[in-house]
Amino acid sequence: MTKKQRYEHVLNFFQEHIPDAETELIYDNPFQLLVAVILSAQCTDKRVNLTTPALFRKYPTPQKMAAADFDDLFPLIRSISYPNNKTKHLIGMANMLLEKFNGQVPMTVDELVQLPGVGRKTANVITSVIDEQPNMAVDTHVFRVSKRIGLVSAGASTPLAVEKELIRHIPEHMVHRAHHWLILHGRYVCVARNPKCHECPLTQWCKYYETFVAPYAGQD
Ligand code: SF4
Repeated sequence: MTKKQRYEHVLNFFQEHIPDAETELIYDNPFQLLVAVILSAQCTDKRVNLTTPALFRKYPTPQKMAAADFDDLFPLIRSISYPNNKTKHLIGMANMLLEKFNGQVPMTVDELVQLPGVGRKTANVITSVIDEQPNMAVDTHVFRVSKRIGLVSAGASTPLAVEKELIRHIPEHMVHRAHHWLILHGRYVCVARNPKCHECPLTQWCKYYETFVAPYAGQD
């Protein structure tokens, strides 16, 4: 099977079965999504969603968050990983939004990565989710799943290399959805330790399955 065929089959499957895939983070506006994505680094979306309602109640705007005291904000995100750094990042990010971007969340990757706590992955999430820009955020799920299926070459060893390869092959209009497809597949089926190949609908197009599972099927 050529790489082109693999992409076609996998993307068609997702398009047909989960056409409306979207982020599992709960938010009402770009500022809230930006806060939620910053909090989600090294943390589950579930935990972030438990935390953000109280945070958004107390700090609903960049203005309010920029004026927050560390000691007031910190307890609200204490249960999230790295609360110390993330408290500093949120307050710093809100201040920069006011000082540099007129209180609005900018919609380019180059501008977003200037904000404290925002790296390329976060910037790609924001621009693809809010603005449907063809930017691929490569998190641990996207990295693992795209390599296992064989969407990217074994030599793609960094998130940026994986991002570039995916972007090269996925039709532009599908990129913002494909990000969620790969994340959801990695979160619920192609999980890190023991991928659930026995319940996966992608086996016939998956390189990992072809190499490591199919040859040994029925041997136990
Ligand atoms: S067949 Fe297995 S390795 Fe391949 S995508 Fe499905 S769960 Fe992942």
